[in-house]
Amino acid sequence: MGVLDIVVTVGLIAVLLRALVRRGPTPGPLLLAVVFGGLGLWRGFGPGPGWLLWPAVVLLTVTAVDVVIAARLFARMPRTESGPVKAELLADCRSDDGRQQLTLAVAPGGAVMMDGVWRDTARRDAVMLTGDCPVCLVEEVTAELAGPDSKALAAYRRDRDAGTNRLIVLRRRGDGWAADLEPVRASPRPFRPVGCPVHG
Ligand SMILES: [Zn+2]
Repeated sequence: MGVLDIVVTVGLIAVLLRALVRRGPTPGPLLLAVVFGGLGLWRGFGPGPGWLLWPAVVLLTVTAVDVVIAARLFARMPRTESGPVKAELLADCRSDDGRQQLTLAVAPGGAVMMDGVWRDTARRDAVMLTGDCPVCLVEEVTAELAGPDSKALAAYRRDRDAGTNRLIVLRRRGDGWAADLEPVRASPRPFRPVGCPVHG
């Protein structure tokens, strides 16, 4: 087994493990998956060891499934203006039987992710805003619930300016809400809105 086959094997296994642990295609891993999957097929079918075909086929299949799932989610995602989404979120968060926890994030493609936890259900929602800035929506809802001077909000803005995207996790605390930051699992690169005077 030559040096190239060792490199392809190590790369294939590393990218495959990453693809299985962190589901969802983001541009970097997608390119790596295609490159190492392609190298694995070439070595496996051709001059390298035949068993390289198996991890290559699994990697390319997992990657293709992730791309199809992401494309379907994107196609089905509701498209709406910022105002009604904000009003609905705040009304729910301020009602007694509304969300107990709300996780807000702007995905690398610009969708607003809004994971909610109620008393006995949990649901993942996402919307694509038509024209309005998704980062403004996330910051406005956080400021309304946790207060405009929330430390998490200031840290979110600072990290975002420095090039790192974050999740904002809002939880009910007493009569109000408290905000914490968590790392994003997929691509940490923040979305750059077009035409927003604050975030553009
Ligand atoms: Zn904005």
